Amino acid sequence: MKIFLTIVSLTIVFYTSAQRCGTADYLQSHPLNNHISQRTATEKAGSRDTLKDEVITIPVVVHVLYNTAAQNISDEQILSQIASLNKDYRRENADAANTPEPFKKVAADVRIQFCLAKVDPHGYYTTGIVRKYTKVEFFQNDDKMKFSAQGGDDAWDATKYLNLWVCNLFNLTLGYGVLPGSPLEKDGVVIKYNVFGTVGNLVAPYNKGRTATHEIGHWLGLKHLWGDSSCGDDSIADTPQQQAGNYGCSSFPHLSQCSINSYGDMFMNFMDFSDDACMNLFTQGQKAEMRSLFALGGPRNSFLNSTACDSSNAEAGPLPNAVDSELKITIYPNPFKNVVHVTANQDKEIVGKVLKLYDITGKLYLKQSIESANTVVNANNLPSGIYILKIQGKNEEQVYKVVKL
Ligand SMILES: [Zn+2]
Repeated sequence: MKIFLTIVSLTIVFYTSAQRCGTADYLQSHPLNNHISQRTATEKAGSRDTLKDEVITIPVVVHVLYNTAAQNISDEQILSQIASLNKDYRRENADAANTPEPFKKVAADVRIQFCLAKVDPHGYYTTGIVRKYTKVEFFQNDDKMKFSAQGGDDAWDATKYLNLWVCNLFNLTLGYGVLPGSPLEKDGVVIKYNVFGTVGNLVAPYNKGRTATHEIGHWLGLKHLWGDSSCGDDSIADTPQQQAGNYGCSSFPHLSQCSINSYGDMFMNFMDFSDDACMNLFTQGQKAEMRSLFALGGPRNSFLNSTACDSSNAEAGPLPNAVDSELKITIYPNPFKNVVHVTANQDKEIVGKVLKLYDITGKLYLKQSIESANTVVNANNLPSGIYILKIQGKNEEQVYKVVKL
């Protein structure tokens, strides 16, 4: 009975006081080092400044770390998050209409967009999604999810990719980000698996992808509107001073003792703590702050040279997906004409696993169980082109790029 009551009370705590954002706590325990100047100094020749009104595209890699099947979120859920980010950062979100009239004049199309990477750090084709089984049941805000050696997955080159780690965070935290200038191996954003995206098994009221919008705002240099202190400020001119963060859904105007204008708190700003359904804008001042990072000499300038979303740059070869597996598989010939052989050193390494063949749009062409260490896949009827071959076990998968002539 006692155990039962404890479980019930923990559940209630989770649903009533989820911590909207763990970034402030994280920064307290991880003060910034002077990495910005180091990174600027190592920028390559050929760097350029941003162009006026240029739409900046940021290649994204999503590291999905799962301990249970539910945490291994679907491609569809991941794609819904990218789509939602692109709406929020281009002010194409349907609920932009809900911005109160006095704040509409400062609302901004940030002109930043996101794409799943098509080329990995080694130059190979990628889906921009890395899936990896982890023994870790709960991650804390201690960055272990960012290191393969600690049950996580190592960051991809953070001068070219925005790393998003999706995992099971400790109960009360929905996500946390780092500010520009953090060490490259920790540079990115962490989001709990059940508040990521707009479809899938999501926990209301954090089911509209705004945890990622908010945390990436930190990655792009933004602070909370109240500057994490009572009546503090975020150093942005067109956001009001606020007493504190707002939870739930406030009614406009929401006045506090330190709101410096008659319109009160901008509780619907993405950098407040309101429910997902009640957030709908970045301001012109926040836009200028975020875009300034991409200017020549800025800490995110290198992204202007990133071509990681251009699949024409990708080369054939195995994808580095779940390469920590013990499986030793050979795929040959590659390219192939009619059949492709999948072999392992021993039966026990591969028998019972499932082989799947997709085209690069994700359409499944072939699925079969593997019954011996030497499997011949008949691909005679497939159209010519590039395919993704996956070997899936219970808690692991290996992914290869193969070409049908
Ligand atoms: Zn935050």
